[in-house]
Amino acid sequence: MEEKKKIVFSAIKPSGEITLGNYLGAIKNWIRFQDDYECYYCIADLHAITVKQEPKLLRKRVLEILAIYIASGLDYEKSTLFVQSHVPAHSEASWLLTCTANMGELSRMTQYKDKTAKLKENTSISAGLFNYPVLMAADILIYNTDFVPVGIDQKQHVELARDIAQRFNSSYSDTFVLPEAKISESAAKIMDLQDPEKKMSKSDDNENSYILVLDKPEVIRRKIARAVTDSVGVVNYTDEQPGVKNLINIVSAIKGIKPDEVVKLFEGKGYKEFKEYVAETIIEELKPVQEKANELLTEKEKLEKIYGEGAMKANYHAMKTLRKMQKKVGLLPPVRL
Ligand code: ATP
Ligand code: MG
Repeated sequence: MEEKKKIVFSAIKPSGEITLGNYLGAIKNWIRFQDDYECYYCIADLHAITVKQEPKLLRKRVLEILAIYIASGLDYEKSTLFVQSHVPAHSEASWLLTCTANMGELSRMTQYKDKTAKLKENTSISAGLFNYPVLMAADILIYNTDFVPVGIDQKQHVELARDIAQRFNSSYSDTFVLPEAKISESAAKIMDLQDPEKKMSKSDDNENSYILVLDKPEVIRRKIARAVTDSVGVVNYTDEQPGVKNLINIVSAIKGIKPDEVVKLFEGKGYKEFKEYVAETIIEELKPVQEKANELLTEKEKLEKIYGEGAMKANYHAMKTLRKMQKKVGLLPPVRL
């Protein structure tokens, strides 16, 4: 008998344009699961609205992300590519899990602390931002996910999803598979180009802090030239030189070579030459992705068909789990008249 394939789920939220961090830490890692696993890759629009978004821009970004997914090598015939809000079971399951999660564990999420710390004083914090890890748990659990390929910043949230699943299973009966985070070895955390102590994020206000997958070559050259380094002047791979270390990590993740090998290439050379090499490496990697994504963005009907079919497949799987959950907590099934 054919063995049942393990299930993979992951997502990116359209809270900004896709960065090199998202591409190396998430998307590139997703591609390698496609052949041997049943993969669900989502565009998490419901997560994006935990912070206010410009409606028109949000819709545009969703399509852009889908185009980048496909252009980067996600195959819509192998993997299910879909938009989160097109599968209502995410929101419904999220409520059932909100009643299983507790305030204490949500308050301990470091990302919530970091994101709220960045907000200006007197800015109101949406309850959605606080509850976001529960929606993420729902995203993962309704597909009976085994593996969640994410950057290291999301590890804590995947662990929370696992805790919530375990609690639901023991309060009712076995319902969910316990998911496990899969972190990319070479690109677990790409850092901010202006402040290499924090991670690169698409929602950052300073556009020099990130490289976008759709950035033009001259923009990439400029941003890398401006990337913060140090006064040592030697290309070393050490925590004492976090800016340089980050640039080495970027090259190492793109080329699939060890950081030490990158260091060797620049023995006796300065930062200018090194940065030019980093920029050209990124440009070369992103060129085919940009060409394909820009072409896809002119084929709206094709994209619609892809996310339409993706939603159908995702809905089918998600509804099965949601019905189980509803039954277990004691909701009366509706009658169809
Ligand atoms: P935001 O600032 O709005 O939170 P983000 O850049 O953190 O945006 P997310 O949508 O939160 O992006 O995360 C999508 C995926 O990309 C997750 O798997 C996350 O772990 C991964 N990721 C995000 N930033 C990085 C990074 N700097 N390095 C590696 N992986 C990253
Ligand atoms: Mg994030």
